[in-house]
Amino acid sequence: GVRVRNAHKAFGPHPVLKGIDLDLAPGTVTVVIGPSGSGKSTLLRTLNHLETLDLGYVSVAGELIGVREHDGRLHELSPRQVRRQRARIGFVAQSFNLFPHLTVAANVAEPLLAHKVAGWDAAYTKAYDLLDRVGLKHRCTDYPRQLSGGQQQRVAIARALALEPDLLLFDEPTSALDPELVGEVLAVIKELARSGRTLVVVSHEIGFARDVADHVVFIDGGVVVEQGPPAQVLDHPQNARTREFLGKVR
Ligand code: ATP
Ligand code: MG
Repeated sequence: GVRVRNAHKAFGPHPVLKGIDLDLAPGTVTVVIGPSGSGKSTLLRTLNHLETLDLGYVSVAGELIGVREHDGRLHELSPRQVRRQRARIGFVAQSFNLFPHLTVAANVAEPLLAHKVAGWDAAYTKAYDLLDRVGLKHRCTDYPRQLSGGQQQRVAIARALALEPDLLLFDEPTSALDPELVGEVLAVIKELARSGRTLVVVSHEIGFARDVADHVVFIDGGVVVEQGPPAQVLDHPQNARTREFLGKVR
């Protein structure tokens, strides 16, 4: 599971996270919604060592992550610890971030080879298997530019799965896609939701959130304004800011 306590982060003089507390149970799907600039990406990035908190802490599966200070002590993680922790967390960004000079299969095999957890044969066998799961086995030898945006995003998901992470983070995985390609990517994420992994998805796809989320978190101005099951937060929001936001994205 994921635990966030009193998370604070500022960029220069601008506070972005102003005391976030979250508890996400293992194997659950959380959808994070909120206005542009509210701190959603920053929060997601702190879970994966892409940002460091100024105050507070994050733990994933009981291990402290990216923490400055906890229980009055400063925790410094070694680069090796950071690498090991990051290998257990998959991250899929808005833009597909594939290596353009590598084939689709090589993109998916790359984390396995880079982390030396598999030899060449095993890495490629695993890559084919993962590409099969996202419906792209027949595109293994293509280069990313030969694929549609939706297909590239499915390759990015296959790559994020390569190291079998317990936690998968998605930052607006469909917002860079043409509308007709959104469904195929959401379908893959929906399938993953059944796999027992912990998923955190920043998304404004309210229908998707209603379908797959166990937990919906509404963030505004760097604080959690409202959270709970989708039927509560999406259909019976208690807070005026949540209602206003949902009125705009629906
Ligand atoms: P969006 O829906 O547009 O993706 P968001 O909720 O993901 O928004 P963040 O990307 O977390 O918002 O950004 C929150 C605030 O922090 C914004 O005002 C942004 O400009 C600022 N910010 C984010 N990253 C940096 C950075 N590396 N340096 C300076 N400011 C940053
Ligand atoms: Mg963002």
